Amino acid sequence: MIIKPGLFTAPHSKPQTSCAKGASDTALRLMSEAVWWVNSIHPIDENRKSLANELDAACLFSSIAVNNSGKNYIKGERIMLVTSEKLLLDAQKGGYAVGAFNVENMEMVQAVVAAAEELRAPVIMQTTPSTVKYAGLDYYYANAKAAAEAASVPVAIHLDHGDSFALAMQALRSGYTSIMIDGSHSVFEENIAISKAVVDACAPSKIPVEAELGKVGGKEDDLDGGNGGYTDPAEAKEFVERTGVTSLAVEIGTAHGVYAGEPKLDVERLSEIRKVVDIPLVLHGASGLTDEAVQECIKRGICKVNFATELRIAYSDAVKKYLADAPETFDPKKYGAAGRESVKQLVMGRMKVCGCNGKA
Ligand SMILES: [Zn+2]
Repeated sequence: MIIKPGLFTAPHSKPQTSCAKGASDTALRLMSEAVWWVNSIHPIDENRKSLANELDAACLFSSIAVNNSGKNYIKGERIMLVTSEKLLLDAQKGGYAVGAFNVENMEMVQAVVAAAEELRAPVIMQTTPSTVKYAGLDYYYANAKAAAEAASVPVAIHLDHGDSFALAMQALRSGYTSIMIDGSHSVFEENIAISKAVVDACAPSKIPVEAELGKVGGKEDDLDGGNGGYTDPAEAKEFVERTGVTSLAVEIGTAHGVYAGEPKLDVERLSEIRKVVDIPLVLHGASGLTDEAVQECIKRGICKVNFATELRIAYSDAVKKYLADAPETFDPKKYGAAGRESVKQLVMGRMKVCGCNGKA
């Protein structure tokens, strides 16, 4: 059995454990109960912390036990890695969106969390399958976990565009606190089948699942959405009812990657979808949209906005500039810091557009 440290649930919130490690359900349930029991009777104090440390060791056997609801996270404690579900529901209630930023390396993880801390914003970091292929889920999870534990704002780590049931399950096992399964390239019934399968598998661990209906166009990594295909509101309603997904990515005219021309957004379609679907809606392909366009979408029901391409550009441009100015540089920390600062500034700007600053 592969053993991996777990995360703590907040006091007074009963944890669920994933049983992806092959341990028996009963053992996991008992461990989960034990963590909950200790947290319940010992409020947040030194006593609880030391018990928590002991239980951390015990949790080696209990697979992941994340702060499932995100309800009771405690500022400054080590349980800031939360699921995306409550972050998005809060955003929906508050009329803002949570920024979801694609990270490629340690510097980008640090940049995104530093931006979130500085603006007191909840934040989602995410990785695509091609990013995952580059270094493996465990590396990105470890980065996010390290950053989240040092953070005083809630942080979620999300699988972006999970392209198979297997990858979604691997992300669940690795400790990802939010998962997207993208069956949008398949026909409607197949998309429902795979999305529902992932929802069912994630349900015991209370890990939220985002799916996509309609196809966001454009190219990003090995993802090719072609010219895209707009989301049909009636289909969206049926899709959500039949799959039980907790958030839905919709296609209203955005594209992944770098835009060739000025995108034409069908915001009326977004409002139509909002009327019949009550879960948080997600906007992909927002890199390159004007601030006004993003805010119009948020007004009409978008609760999560993905930013990927522009972070890569910000990082790479800063590194290129650093090396052009100082070609004798051989220390990766030097240009890494330049890239990190550039990404942080960009992310802070995007968070303000989303209106999530001050919400953590
Ligand atoms: Zn996307």
